[in-house]
Amino acid sequence: MKKQNIKGMLLPELQAFVESLGEKKYRGAQLFSWMYAKAAQSFGDMTDVSKTFRDVLSEAAVLENLQLVSRKDSKDGTSKLLFKLSDGLAIESVLIPPERKSPAAEKRLTLCISTQVGCPLDCKFCATGTMGFTRNLTTGEIVDQVLQSQRLRDRRITNLVYMGMGEPMLNYDNVMKSVDILTDDRSLNIGTRHITISTAGYADRIRQMADEDRKVKLALSLHSLDNDKRAMLMPITKKYSVNDLVESIEYYYHKTRNRPTFEYILFEGFNDTEADVKRFIALSKRIPCKINIIPFHSIEFTHPTGFSASLRPTSQTRVDQFAEKLRNADITVMIRASSGEDINAACGQLAIHGVDKDRRKQHSIPGPLPAQPIDSSL
Ligand code: SAH
Repeated sequence: MKKQNIKGMLLPELQAFVESLGEKKYRGAQLFSWMYAKAAQSFGDMTDVSKTFRDVLSEAAVLENLQLVSRKDSKDGTSKLLFKLSDGLAIESVLIPPERKSPAAEKRLTLCISTQVGCPLDCKFCATGTMGFTRNLTTGEIVDQVLQSQRLRDRRITNLVYMGMGEPMLNYDNVMKSVDILTDDRSLNIGTRHITISTAGYADRIRQMADEDRKVKLALSLHSLDNDKRAMLMPITKKYSVNDLVESIEYYYHKTRNRPTFEYILFEGFNDTEADVKRFIALSKRIPCKINIIPFHSIEFTHPTGFSASLRPTSQTRVDQFAEKLRNADITVMIRASSGEDINAACGQLAIHGVDKDRRKQHSIPGPLPAQPIDSSL
């Protein structure tokens, strides 16, 4: 019988699993707490679980852990973590320190997590897109990014953004299950409203989130309200037009009353004109929203060609002017700080490229890797 990986199971699933082993149901809650609240790395760590039960478990189950293989620290306090999965593939997560100095913000520690190995969407400005797509992450792999990252820091991870590698809506069930586990008060108890899921725009899934009354925050990577221009930047626009998207977000807002965030990278001369400001103002009249302006982070290290290579960041002065015009129309605008750009850990810069030309091999790490010292001061 194949051993079951229990990391990623919800409480009822764990209870059913232990019962299938002839054990009492309460053992399920014990496992839940050891895995998700106390980050046990093996059954041996579960000290108040009887030796007999631990032996039964070892026969039937495994506890799969992501392996931290490297960590890059930015001068701004951001850390990019490279994890190896059990099949040798690799993903990245990014720990982001608080942006502003306010008592509330100072307590914040945000983790940006991945949902897929690579990404199939091929957005023209994103480094992850150049990796192609290998597979979805399991629920356990999504949850374990948080558990393993938390082990590196004394301070509690308070906020999660599903903005790492991959498109969360293409791995919807595992993503939502990971949210259910991480927000459980017997687990890490992360506040649902402290979790943001960012999507390139799967209109059907946005409606589904609304119908399921999901309380997490929704961010939409918009980048242009002009359908033709958005299609040049994001091929997914050919499947869901700007119109479809806006309608799905409108539906989401009316059902949940949650204000969505629109993410908008400013590209010089492409989507930073007066006409773009007007489109946004019209949109904000339809849907109360926030706009998050993201500076374009260079993806030159991926050697872009064609249209991708022509994209340039808008100058800081123009970014401020663009934001000002929106604010004058009473729209809430944030200009996102670029965390970790010096280590290629900023938005859209996550990509794992090996020397091998074969795409599948590019995403895996040849093992064995030297053990990495973990700095407790992190
Ligand atoms: N697939 C999801 C989540 C991953 S991308 C999505 O599209 O939303 C996370 C955010 O980083 C998105 O808003 C994306 O548009 C942005 N991004 C991607 N490449 C970027 C780059 N080079 N510079 C700045 N932001 C980028």
